[in-house]
Amino acid sequence: MGGFFGVVSVNDCVEDLYYGTDYHSHLGTARGGMAVTDRNGIIIRTSHDISNSLFRSKFDGDLSKFAGATCGIGAISDMDDQPLLIGSHLGVYSLVTVGKLINIQDLAQEAFKNRHIHFSTQKTGEFNQTEVVASLIDSQDSIESGIAFAMDKIKGSCSLLLMKDGVIYAARDKYGRTPIVLGQKLTATAASMETSAFPNLDYEFVRNLGPGEIVMFTAHEITQLKKPEALNQICAFFWVYFAFPSSTFEGKNTETVRYANGAGIAADDEYASKIDSVCGVPDSGVAHAIGYSNTVHKPYMRALIKYTPTWLRSFMPQNQLSRNLIARMKLLPVDDQIANKKLLFLDDSIVRGTQFRDVARRLYERKAKEVHLRSASPPLAFPCLFLNFSRSKSTMDLVARRVINTLEGGEPSPEILKEYITAGTERYNNMVEEIRKMLGLTSLRYQTIDKLVEAIGLPKERICTFCFDGCDPTGCAKCANCMVPPPDLKSAEPKS
Ligand code: SF4
Repeated sequence: MGGFFGVVSVNDCVEDLYYGTDYHSHLGTARGGMAVTDRNGIIIRTSHDISNSLFRSKFDGDLSKFAGATCGIGAISDMDDQPLLIGSHLGVYSLVTVGKLINIQDLAQEAFKNRHIHFSTQKTGEFNQTEVVASLIDSQDSIESGIAFAMDKIKGSCSLLLMKDGVIYAARDKYGRTPIVLGQKLTATAASMETSAFPNLDYEFVRNLGPGEIVMFTAHEITQLKKPEALNQICAFFWVYFAFPSSTFEGKNTETVRYANGAGIAADDEYASKIDSVCGVPDSGVAHAIGYSNTVHKPYMRALIKYTPTWLRSFMPQNQLSRNLIARMKLLPVDDQIANKKLLFLDDSIVRGTQFRDVARRLYERKAKEVHLRSASPPLAFPCLFLNFSRSKSTMDLVARRVINTLEGGEPSPEILKEYITAGTERYNNMVEEIRKMLGLTSLRYQTIDKLVEAIGLPKERICTFCFDGCDPTGCAKCANCMVPPPDLKSAEPKS
């Protein structure tokens, strides 16, 4: 994933940029960067490796050289180095992107054909996606038409901020997979991935950008350059897992959605009356667990506590071995809350299943009587195609799909797969039971797609649920996974 923040101010904007970008630290683990336009109109940029340190600790020393700047963009990224500083026939500008260009190779090859001679590559030979987006923008006659062109050509997802001549352009992904929100105070306007960046910097939320919408803003004025598209497919995982709890997207606050989601899971749980306590797997399982606990009137207890002084982030490195090590080291058991207790845990999702299998084993070693698990999201059956969602790289990473293939003796037909992803069917129940056994749990339940959508509170047509049901309304005719009719776009509410 990744996140960004951009600000134009009548005064020095550096503190706002620094803290506004820092408030996206939960969205990425690899690179952090900022670029500002100084009072002479020169863009200065800096970026650092933040894989082993906090964003703030790396940039403290850079702030003095930014002093006096009134316009800036910053990014936290899971892979690419950004912001990039681009010089082209459109002038000099700085660019940050969040998303995943699944057709990046095609776009690069097309650029080569059009005599865009080279891109810088990384050690792995991969292109920097922000640089490829810049090449698309530069292929047109203006920044405005270039951004619109890039958004149209990109498959996957891309939201961006572009800073040029002391103003910022903000463009939200064509299908709205990732959000952009606008905020203002008397002296400045800001664009942010998450609203959580606003209150402590004294910005008032102004509005969400709609899918595909492009705006340009100065310190006081926001100008719409392109109207939003009809179809919104914001990622359901923003509410389940990615987002900071205080953030609100499309009018739906993350913490509140997580409470409602936990309550929905509790509503028909036959074990709710039999357990001793409800626990959340830190961090993103906690609010779902509070919602569950409040609904069934069983105490919320912390049987596992995250060691926050050093394990600050909820995001994990790309490398699986490091992920497993971190997952183990960051959680400390509280024996008094475990021994002789029937514990029910809520976690945001079950991806490979390996992490909670280890947790369950350790809980039993510490004499837990029962360990129940509730997943705040439905079974993950399809890897994400649209975001750089590090937790599900390939289909067989997903424990649900591995179990399905084992039960079916190979890849299932689309019809059979549909049965597995439909809650309540015999095949679905068999799959859940197999996963329960693999993880060594007393009981296992998943949230259903319908109830998750209900907890979010938007029409299903306006939320991406692809990794649960393979439904991609943006490509119904072509999508091999698609098993539902196209949405009725007329029922989609207007974008705010
Ligand atoms: S496939 Fe899943 S993770 Fe990817 S955008 Fe859709 S809901 Fe989000």
